[in-house]
Amino acid sequence: MSIVARHLSNIKASPTTTISNLAMDLERQGRDIIRMSAGEPDFNTPEHIKQAAIEALERNQTKYPHVNGIVELREAICAKLKRENDLDYGVDQILVTAGGKQAIYNALVASLNPGDEVIIPAPYWVSYPDMVLLNGGVPVIVQTDSDHGFTLTPEALEAAITDNTKWLILNNPNNPSGAVMEESDLKALAQVLRDHPQVWILSDDIYEHIVYDGIRFTTMAQVAPDLYPRTLTMNGFSKAYCMTGWRLGYAAAPRELISAMSKIQSQSTSGVNSISQWAGIAALEGDQSFIAEHNASFVQRRDLALSILNQCNGLHCAPPKGAFYLYVDCKELMGRTTAQGKTLECDEDFSTYLLDSQGVAAVHGAAFGLSPFFRISYATDEASIEAACTRIQAACGSLS
Ligand code: PLP
Repeated sequence: MSIVARHLSNIKASPTTTISNLAMDLERQGRDIIRMSAGEPDFNTPEHIKQAAIEALERNQTKYPHVNGIVELREAICAKLKRENDLDYGVDQILVTAGGKQAIYNALVASLNPGDEVIIPAPYWVSYPDMVLLNGGVPVIVQTDSDHGFTLTPEALEAAITDNTKWLILNNPNNPSGAVMEESDLKALAQVLRDHPQVWILSDDIYEHIVYDGIRFTTMAQVAPDLYPRTLTMNGFSKAYCMTGWRLGYAAAPRELISAMSKIQSQSTSGVNSISQWAGIAALEGDQSFIAEHNASFVQRRDLALSILNQCNGLHCAPPKGAFYLYVDCKELMGRTTAQGKTLECDEDFSTYLLDSQGVAAVHGAAFGLSPFFRISYATDEASIEAACTRIQAACGSLS
């Protein structure tokens, strides 16, 4: 009899982490690998944020923090939500979590009953379906397509809603497609949601600040204030503030949900490490100018990658408006054969071929629920991007 619980048999480890780990193992074996798989900015955490952590240590801010997050950080989050999103939240409506990931996880633990359905537009962030399954829910995957810019249409949403729908998860800007839903897109979805009061909205805004080409970010509770009583707005520090390792994120939601999520946190982690939280205050309240500088650099990197990939025989990708990923269409390559005689039948075959033949680690579209595509992250230096894309071009060119 296995020690492992039965319900884990449905669950897979995060594919992006699995591919990044495989790439690291190959590097250790001496292979020349370019990692384009991780969703992590290559920039360091800005100095003033690190300094705030050092000062917190020196002040001995090292005791158990409040389970919901230190009040100073929750106040800074409320101020941020007002300043940037025109949203009113009280400190008792905020839960500080170990990364945005734990905010989503706690929300699902706190709300799902067996059989509750969660609508997840594809392509999706790899963790949503497994988190739903882990908590007894049913992921309902709704396909989007590149012709509609990978955004969920009101018709597709309407068709997916049933009496059992508990949540709609919206990730804007989107990982992996980089698609951005603008105010009019969100308003069109809100119009559908008004007819279905049982459906809550989980708005994953983690890439909020990483938007390009003059796009103005908006979020559901802001554009549809009548949906505020059934919206959870989630955000974090990993991406814009380059704080992936600090494990800091948060949820803002109605009090009943936040206190249920807090109960879970009180019985699991007791909250988030205190030093990260003091650093988080400096992130929200300090100089923000580095965000625009990073975005300018992301745009250059995006355009560099696109200029090479769009010349590759069989690949297509439109310029995404946010996040730092390209979701590249590789449909035309399906059915072609590698120099080793392997016929490519799915996007996973292609990403395996890229890793084996060219040492480029990319993530296959099936991991994000929409095939045949692959995702590369361009949150890395231009030399690596150029080398990786040139290798991808060589891989495509040698298929027959
Ligand atoms: N949501 C999306 C769409 C993501 O891409 C990620 C990380 O890659 C997260 C949430 C969670 O980020 P973190 O837990 O580092 O805040």
